[in-house]
Amino acid sequence: MHIDVDEHGYYGRFGGAYIPEMLHPNIEQLRNCYREMIAEPAFKAEFDSLLKDYVGRPSPLYYAKRLSAHYGARIYLKREDLNHTGAHKINNTIGQIMVAQRLGKTRIIAETGAGQHGVATATVCALVGLQCIVYMGEVDIERQAPNVARMRMLGAEVRPAKSGSRTLKDATNEAIRDWINNPEDTHYIIGSVVGPHPYPDMVARFQSVISEEMKWQLQEKVGREYPDAVVACVGGGSNAAGAFYHYLNDERVRLIAVEAAGLGVDSGESAATSVLGTEGIIHGARTLLMQTADGQVVEPYSISAGLDYPGIGPLHAYLIDSRRAEAISVTDDDALAAALFTTRTEGIIPALETAHAFAALNQMQYGPEDVIVICLSGRGDKDLAAYETYLNRL
Ligand SMILES: *Cc1c(COP(=O)(O)O)cnc(C)c1O
Repeated sequence: MHIDVDEHGYYGRFGGAYIPEMLHPNIEQLRNCYREMIAEPAFKAEFDSLLKDYVGRPSPLYYAKRLSAHYGARIYLKREDLNHTGAHKINNTIGQIMVAQRLGKTRIIAETGAGQHGVATATVCALVGLQCIVYMGEVDIERQAPNVARMRMLGAEVRPAKSGSRTLKDATNEAIRDWINNPEDTHYIIGSVVGPHPYPDMVARFQSVISEEMKWQLQEKVGREYPDAVVACVGGGSNAAGAFYHYLNDERVRLIAVEAAGLGVDSGESAATSVLGTEGIIHGARTLLMQTADGQVVEPYSISAGLDYPGIGPLHAYLIDSRRAEAISVTDDDALAAALFTTRTEGIIPALETAHAFAALNQMQYGPEDVIVICLSGRGDKDLAAYETYLNRL
């Protein structure tokens, strides 16, 4: 099995570009541009230099001694939480802002759930001096107030999405509508491995720095370039795609994709797409999504704004469908408990999204010599209100 995207943007039967006629030129231009750019040594040098001096890469690979002792495995944490702006999202926005500049775009739009992608986009817009508009669900604006303030401080305009569940899916719809109305001057920075081709592949490549670093860091620390398992939470799937990327075709490595079960997979309040999803088209790609029998998108639910999305990227749909990756679903309560346990065991407050990945350790099987890397996708500062509510009800 060799896993890669084909020239039309498909992973098996998942992917492609199902977009309105109006956006064909944009998508075509983007496809040609990013391929050309990533092949250029000068682009790679500038990208790497920004990742190093601006983002603070390489992010450490930390041996979590007390977690390892508790679970009985060798657990390493890939510290994306230590990146500038506090999550993995900035790896992608740095790459895409360079693409936007090459395309001569002057206006940047983005959608955001937890606000991390919005902050990462507003940050790179400030870095290069471009106008920035971020669409965000009204519900998310409320539950992620610190990130809204950050975006405004950075000079971005935050526009509320008021339809549907008023979360990430609705913000994404608004952003697509904006792009259709402003195709000439606007680049849409998508924050995950979702959307029409070439976004899933482009975002996965920008995030692949995560597993590129893991290879030499594991070589140094455990004497081999590969772990026995990589665990990552999946909203759209970008931190997972980055953490899996260089191991996709290495069958020695188990790939564990952790989804949000919300109140429980069968509760009707869930975002566990790999279990509840069926094939369909969402936001320009054929993938797995939560929908009714007649194709209406089902409102997802998770306590974590970054995982509250009814689809998954086409790469992950393919990995799960072909059984290359294993999917695990984790409830709100299990994620909260794992966040608290991780914090008090290692002194690291993870993002609520990431807490789902930690909780998956309770559902996995492994031996004491197994090396497990958890992608610590982001820090929990933005989630302190949710954590405080949790502590108060303990
Ligand atoms: C956005 C976000 C996620 C979910 O997005 P992916 O594209 O699935 O990675 C996970 N963790 C954190 C910290 C995030 O900010």
